[in-house]
Amino acid sequence: MLNLLDLTPTDAEFALREFAVAHGDAAYRGSQVMPHLWAKPVGSFGEMTDLPAAFRELLAAHFTLPRLALETEQQSTDGTRKFLFRMHDGQAIETVAIPDGERMTFCISSQAGCALQCSFCATGAMGFARNLAVHEIAGQVRELALLNPPIRATNIVFMGMGEPMMNWKAVTDVLTVLNDPKGCGIGARHITVSTVGILPGIVALGERKEQFRLALSIHAPSDDLRQKLMPVNTKYPLADVIDAAAEFARRVTFEYVMLGGVNDQAHHADQLAALARRCKAFVNLIPLHPGGALGFTPTSPEAIAKFARKIRNSGVEVAIRKSRGIDIAAACGQLRVERQRRRPPASPEHDREVDVA
Ligand code: SAH
Repeated sequence: MLNLLDLTPTDAEFALREFAVAHGDAAYRGSQVMPHLWAKPVGSFGEMTDLPAAFRELLAAHFTLPRLALETEQQSTDGTRKFLFRMHDGQAIETVAIPDGERMTFCISSQAGCALQCSFCATGAMGFARNLAVHEIAGQVRELALLNPPIRATNIVFMGMGEPMMNWKAVTDVLTVLNDPKGCGIGARHITVSTVGILPGIVALGERKEQFRLALSIHAPSDDLRQKLMPVNTKYPLADVIDAAAEFARRVTFEYVMLGGVNDQAHHADQLAALARRCKAFVNLIPLHPGGALGFTPTSPEAIAKFARKIRNSGVEVAIRKSRGIDIAAACGQLRVERQRRRPPASPEHDREVDVA
């Protein structure tokens, strides 16, 4: 049995056309399956009603279209929705759908857990379980399109659980699935890969000819401080990450979580602005979601605004990320952590959600 959802659209179509011919059908019968995989997905071969029943049965005997089990959903008053999917081996992953005007951004997971242990991140605290397969990453987008009514992504950010560049082999195929007109057909400029700065991954993304976007989790403007917040800085020091960003073919976004009293002082703004100027980066300041971050406090909105002004005044483009879904714990890893602790979500007063792109 061949899993069609682990293949790029080109490979899936090739296999399907060969299969059709091998079974005495015209090759185009195979191509007819394609829209049902990603663009207008259906849950099973039986539902591909534009195909003859006999051919659907043949397909079901030779190929699989694995589903992800939707275990929990939470909806915020502002429309943000968060989903917990259970994998076949019991691992759980999160996906968040964030509506914003005409846009619908999906924040998707690339690993179950994460090995990187950034000190403020809930996913880091749970440790690493395993890489997700292509069909488990792209499948998050497919599953939401299978809901009734469907939710269709216009934008994708790899800002859910995990480090996408540590699962590049799958992620590069997922990018193809998401972008290919025979896949989900989402424009490359609407797809953002976020990384702590895994250098080989940055290079590999830059080598893709499509205009996929790169976001870099910087979070500290000096090695000393970054080391304390992000252990990965030992392997990939800040200077190397900045060099890679400067060499990256396209415009890069810096992500910077504002940690009260830690990385939010005036001199940090100056240092950060200097780094951003070097690689012409756009800076995204992110209000801390306290849920995942024992021992940290959020910077006040006023202090974030001041920090932003300082950066803007030195000629760097900067935005403060909107907090959304304040009544559901939608930040990285929080739903899964919550279920493991069997605690109800924090109250709206104490719970601020991290919004994306
Ligand atoms: N591993 C990749 C992709 C995961 S997304 C990366 O780190 O870039 C990670 C993003 O989630 C980080 O950039 C950070 O902005 C955000 N994040 C994690 N924990 C957070 C928290 N407690 N509050 C706000 N943002 C958080």
